[in-house]
Amino acid sequence: MTNQVFNFSAGPAVLPKEVLQQAASEMLDWQGSGMSVMEMSHRGPEFISIYRQAESDLRELLAVPPNYKILFMQGGGLAQNAIIPMNLVGCCPQPATIDFIHTGSWSGKSIQEARRYANVNVAASSEADGFTRVPPRETWNLTGHAAYLHICTNETIDGVEYDFVPESLPKVPIVADMSSHILSRSIDVSKYGLIFAGAQKNIGPAGLTLVIVRDDLLEDALAICPSAFHFKTVAANESMFNTPPTYAIYIAGLVFAHLKKLGGVAAMEKINIEKARLLYAALDADDFYQNRVAPAYRSRMNVPFFLRDESLNDKFLAGAKARGLLQLKGHKSVGGMRASIYNAMPLEGVQALVDYLNEFAGR
Ligand code: PMP
Repeated sequence: MTNQVFNFSAGPAVLPKEVLQQAASEMLDWQGSGMSVMEMSHRGPEFISIYRQAESDLRELLAVPPNYKILFMQGGGLAQNAIIPMNLVGCCPQPATIDFIHTGSWSGKSIQEARRYANVNVAASSEADGFTRVPPRETWNLTGHAAYLHICTNETIDGVEYDFVPESLPKVPIVADMSSHILSRSIDVSKYGLIFAGAQKNIGPAGLTLVIVRDDLLEDALAICPSAFHFKTVAANESMFNTPPTYAIYIAGLVFAHLKKLGGVAAMEKINIEKARLLYAALDADDFYQNRVAPAYRSRMNVPFFLRDESLNDKFLAGAKARGLLQLKGHKSVGGMRASIYNAMPLEGVQALVDYLNEFAGR
């Protein structure tokens, strides 16, 4: 095993080394407080300052408009699949309808969960194409009176990413699951009613879930919505209605500060485009490897691929591991390989993978 390791896990995933080093140096004594961040009251001045800095850095990085709240929640993306309907469908006569675009495994799970709270209209699906593209906007069969339209803008398992910001219908907000590509590219937050993302890919440790929600959507919760998951209550308490995941928020804050130092989201996007270009070019060089996603919709973050001769899979993974290229095995539902190349994956890591791909293919 080489000393230099590159971790291609889809999540929990690689974090910037500088962030881990800073966290290590502050582990026992955060900035002279004599305490670890893990040991601080979430209501004390030390943690409140960590929280406020994280919130304002994220607001700056994503240019979040003032009429949006940023919530630091728990339960991950899957819990949001229930929390969001419970908070938003109260806008409409019951049972409300939610429009969905089905582009892969994660939007599929969102659809399943939403059926417990509303009627579901799958307005478009790429299932028949094996989830290799986003159905074109002009083919979407939206209801017109939906409580909201749910999309997953980057499908982590299928490796499909939106290359456009969809227009919804008037008065129908878009809810976007950005778990696996938030902060990797510039976005216009004002196009969405709500954005959510589990932290464990591009943000920080598992256990923290970000929700960015427009103010006017805080009023439509169902009565059954638990208080700890009620957006209006969470917002009114600065994400401290219950004890928030303090250490995860602290690490996320270090990641936000680190991204600002690197030049923000626009700078990350530039590098991410280059990393993805390099990797897809190696996969496309001949038919030894195969990525099945239509080029326009190939994810810059999650790159699934297959060996033409799948009997070589174990040999491929063992050789990769010996070179310090870790966690390349594909998701169990699709098999093959997957390289996740989030913000914290350096260009050298992608280059090391490309060198190995070429070598293994005998090029
Ligand atoms: N949405 C997307 C796009 C994801 O990638 C994931 C996790 N891989 C989830 C939702 C679910 O997140 P969690 O396991 O944190 O609930």
